[in-house]
Order: sequence, then structure tokens, then C-alpha cells
Amino acid sequence: MIIGLKKWILSKILRKKYYRTGKCKACGKCCTQIYVKHYKHVVQDEEEFKKLQLLHKFYTYLKIIGKDEIGLIFECQNLDPKTHKCRIHRRRPGICRRYPQEELFSMGGALSDDCGYKMEPIIPFKDIMRKCTIKKYPDQKTL
Ligand code: SF4
Ligand code: SF4
Repeated sequence: MIIGLKKWILSKILRKKYYRTGKCKACGKCCTQIYVKHYKHVVQDEEEFKKLQLLHKFYTYLKIIGKDEIGLIFECQNLDPKTHKCRIHRRRPGICRRYPQEELFSMGGALSDDCGYKMEPIIPFKDIMRKCTIKKYPDQKTL
């Protein structure tokens, strides 16, 4: 019932297509390969990033560690390299508390294979296919 209500709010009010299941295993991987999206693009250069650091405290935690075809790659300096734990866990920013969100996919990101979370489609793919089949071939039997 609660899950059903949660899915309804996510899809009908927040217009989301995915919902989060599972639990964080505190491996710290998502704090070491971060892309920064600003409006509709992923940040590509250091100058732009410096300006963003003035706007949001979270960005001051990040350090550039590389760049690939998607954009600059950052790691968070609050991650303890020995324990892989967040040093500010109790007061970590909202963006960390809400991770992962479906916006992750829209910027070319993905969950690591061993992440404890999964992003599941709110409407299972087989139900979408069934609806399409019924609309196109209303007399056809579906399994
Ligand atoms: S503040 Fe903590 S949880 Fe957020 S990215 Fe940094 S290390 Fe990870
Ligand atoms: S990668 Fe997944 S399991 Fe690991 S710390 Fe991030 S959210 Fe948690």
C-alpha cells in the first residue's frame, strides 16, 4: 500500500519514471566518480566549475580528478580514503541523501555494479509492452 502510494506520487505528481530500491552498502564508490550537471549540461571546464563553487557549498568539497567524453570527473574530499566513509555523514548535503536519482541516467552516469541501490522502472517494461500490443492489436491475446 505504502509502496503503491509512493509510486503513484513519483509518477503522477513528480513525473518520475524510476524509483529507488535497496540500501546503501557504504562502499564510497559514488563519492569518487562524480559528474556535475548545471542546468542542461555536464560541467566541462575548470573556470565554469570555479564559478559554481561560489554558488553551492557542496561544490567546494569536490576536487577534479580527470575528464572523459561526458565531462569533468570529481571526487569528494570528505570521503576518508582509508575507511571509505563520509567524514560529514550526519550533516552531508541533501544531494548526497537523495542519491541515486534518475537524473543520473540523463547525464550519462550509472550505478556501480555492486551498489546496494537499484533504480527500478515505476511501470515495468513488460506492462508498457502489453499496453502497446493491446492498442496496436486489440484482438491479440497477451500472456
Ligand atoms: S559529502 Fe559525503 S556522501 Fe556526499 S559526496 Fe562527499 S563523501 Fe560522499
Ligand atoms: S555506490 Fe551505492 S552502495 Fe556504494 S556508497 Fe554509493 S550509494 Fe552506497
